Order: sequence, then C-alpha cells, then structure tokens
Amino acid sequence: MEFEYSPKVLELQAKLTEFMQERVLPAEAIAEEQLASKPDHWGAPPIVADLKAAAKREGLWNLFLPAREGAGLTNLEYAPLAELTGWSPLIGPEAFNCNPPDIGNMELLHLYGTDDQKREWLEPLLAGEFRSCFSMTEPDVASSDANNVRLEIAEDGDDWVLTGRKWWSTAALRDDCRVAMVMGVTDPDAPVGSRHSIVLVPMDTPGLTIVRSTTVLGFTDRHEGGHGEIVFDKVRVPQANLLGPRGKGFAVAQARLGPGRIHHCMRLIGMAERAIALMTERARARVAFGRPLADEGVVQATVADARIHLDAARLLVLRAAWRMDVEGTKAARHDIAAAKVMVPLTVKQIVDDAMQIFGGAGLSQDTILPVLYAQARFLQIADGPDQVHRRSLARAEFAATPVLKEVRG
Ligand SMILES: Cc1cc2nc3c(=O)[nH]c(=O)nc-3n(C[C@H](O)[C@H](O)[C@H](O)COP(=O)(O)OP(=O)(O)OC[C@H]3O[C@@H](n4cnc5c(N)ncnc54)[C@H](O)[C@@H]3O)c2cc1C
Repeated sequence: MEFEYSPKVLELQAKLTEFMQERVLPAEAIAEEQLASKPDHWGAPPIVADLKAAAKREGLWNLFLPAREGAGLTNLEYAPLAELTGWSPLIGPEAFNCNPPDIGNMELLHLYGTDDQKREWLEPLLAGEFRSCFSMTEPDVASSDANNVRLEIAEDGDDWVLTGRKWWSTAALRDDCRVAMVMGVTDPDAPVGSRHSIVLVPMDTPGLTIVRSTTVLGFTDRHEGGHGEIVFDKVRVPQANLLGPRGKGFAVAQARLGPGRIHHCMRLIGMAERAIALMTERARARVAFGRPLADEGVVQATVADARIHLDAARLLVLRAAWRMDVEGTKAARHDIAAAKVMVPLTVKQIVDDAMQIFGGAGLSQDTILPVLYAQARFLQIADGPDQVHRRSLARAEFAATPVLKEVRG
C-alpha cells in the first residue's frame, strides 16, 4: 500500500482544506441561525445551497463516485477528502454532494438503474438538485437481520403495491426529498436471500405517509431531514420502478452498504481530528490549579492516546479502502467490518475525552462536541450494529487457517 498521495489528490486536498476553512466552518453558525429562524423547516439551511454552488464551480463535486460521472477517484484517494468533509458533519458533506444517504443511493442507481431510472433520478441527484432516502429498517422486526424485513411488495397488473411500515429513513422529511429506495418482500416463497427486492418510490405517491421523525440522542437532525417513520398503505408504483434484479434486494443493498460504511468511517476520522484540535486548544488555554491543563500529565496522556488510537483507526480505514480498490468490495468485507467497529468506538472515546477536557462547556451547545458524539454513537448501530460485524469477523477467524501450526509434546 502506497502512503504518498498522487498530485491529483494533493491538489484536491489543498483546495478542499481551504474551502472547509474559508467557507464551510464559518457557515456553521449561519446555518444554525437560519434553522432557528424557521423552526418548522426540514431541510438544509439556505447557506448550504450557496456552498453547493461554490463547490461545484471549484470542481469539488461528487468526489465520492469512482465512475466517470463523479471525480473518478479510487476509495483510497477519496479517504483524505471525505475525512476533511467530516470536520463539519452537518453541512460539510452536503456542500460537496458527498452526503449520505444520497451517495449510497447514487451508487445503486449508477450500478443497477435502467436508462430511464438514471435519467429521472440519478442525473438530478448527481447535480444535487434534490435528495433521496433509503428505507430498509422496520420498527416491528429486528432489522439488523435484513431477512426479517417484511414490508410487502405485491405484484398487481403492471404495478407494485407496497404495504408496511419503515422507520429511520434518514432525510425522508426534507422538503427536497423526492424518492425513497424501499426494500421489501416480492417473493415470499423463494429461498432465503431471494425474497427481497428494492423499488423506487416517489415521496409524493398516494398512500405514503411520514408519521414522525425519530430523534438521535435528543437531536432532531433537521439539517439532515430527520429520520422518517413512514407508513406505506397500498402505495402503487409501476413495475418499471424495480431497482436491480427481482429477489436480489440484499445483494443490491450490499453494493451500497460496503462503500457507505467505509465512507462513514472516513468522515468520522475527520470528526475526531476536530475533537483533538478542540481539546488541545482548550487544554492550552484553560488554567486550573495554577497551570494550563495542557501541563498536566493526565491530560497529556489523554491527548497522546487520542492521536495513537485515531491514527491506528485511520490505517484500518485506508487498508479497507485499498482492498476495495484492488480486490473489490466483497473481498474487503472483513476489513470494512473491522473498520466499522473500531472507528465509531475510537472516535466516540476521543470525543468523550474532549468533552471531559472542556468541562461543562463540552456538553453544551457552545461546542460541536455533542454533535460529534451523537454521530459516533449512532454509527455503532446504523449500517449494521457492532455485534453483527463482530459476528462476521469472528466467523471468518474461526474458519481461518493459521500461518504456522502449533507443535506440541
Ligand atoms: C441515526 C440513524 C440513522 C439511520 N438511517 C437509516 C436509513 O437511512 N435507512 C435505514 O433503512 N435504516 C437506517 N437506520 C437503522 C439502522 O440501520 C438499524 O437501526 C440497524 O440496522 C439495527 O436494526 P434494529 O434497530 O432493528 O436493531 P435490532 O435488529 O433489533 O438489533 C438490536 C441490537 O441487537 C444486537 N444484535 C443484533 N444481532 C446480534 C447478534 N447476531 N449477536 C449479538 N447481538 C446482536 C445489537 O446490539 C443490536 O444493536 C438508522 C439508524 C440510526 C440510529
């Protein structure tokens, strides 16, 4: 694995650093004010549209997509760039059209969409004209085992008819969310693994009702468009809205989840970098018992451990990204799982330590730390809970042959 970045990546990194510093970080406070002035608004504050226009002009757009329609970067090349966008998780990724869940949805449309689907949904998403959501999780079943997903997608003439309930559909409440990718059962009698399919459902289809948004540790996530609980009451869409092969919904979703998980990890690394920058700045400035906190050995140990653990976590992410590029997402699944467990855990601890160094301020709205904490915490559950990733890793480990055999007796 090569640790030097190519001139192309170094150039993008420099441009992106400047853009984040000069435009995105100063926009955070403005975004908060704009949201506060419109308490019923679900969606990006207006400043985000300005950032998007500027990022597009500067060629900092769709960096996540390895294909021609995107920036053409490998996963390894994208990693340091995604990390920078993660410094400002609420508005950074969207400024560059690199925000979940749309990036995963665009990847699916890119891989599996028909020409018509690409024209109708992929092109405007790539242009950042509207948003989309992904609806897999259901309140009534343990959705970490996707086999349990039970929303019914019944064939009726030339249509699909959807009946069931989803929740945690991130971005569903946004005023500009136009389409949901919905996973459900099309073939209940088929063997396990061939029962589920994904269909595209325009958000204004009759019978689709968003009943509420769930909060995350008390945050409403209005920037993000909340997390929709959605009732599908005989929602009718044409059969042409099937995304990917019928009965292969899991395989299709997997194509989205692999890159999605590692992209989450990349952004989390940036969030932890911000927490370290904040904690060191605070420790230098805050004086207790006659000297700066930074002079205390326990504080120094905390800062040093944060750096050690974050750099180790980053290496795991880079290795997963490298294997995805070289051997494909399937071959990299264990590297992705390992990163998906280690990174949120590590970042959560670093943010927690930063909160401790800040004292009361660290838990208040005066720092971004509670936002970063919520991001790290929810990613121990979203896109597969830690336990499920550990289960896959343990299975691989039990099946593995050691390089050398023990010699006894
Ligand atoms: C902020 C946020 C955003 C999300 N966004 C989306 C989205 O956009 N679209 C979407 O479809 N979903 C989304 N989700 C849902 C998320 O993917 C699910 O919550 C997750 O897959 C777990 O499913 P579940 O909640 O049904 O938990 P369950 O399946 O009920 O599992 C509960 C717990 O059981 C434990 N567990 C499960 N299996 C095992 C095992 N084999 N061994 C040991 N322990 C186990 C784990 O600790 C797990 O957390 C989001 C969730 C959050 C919090």
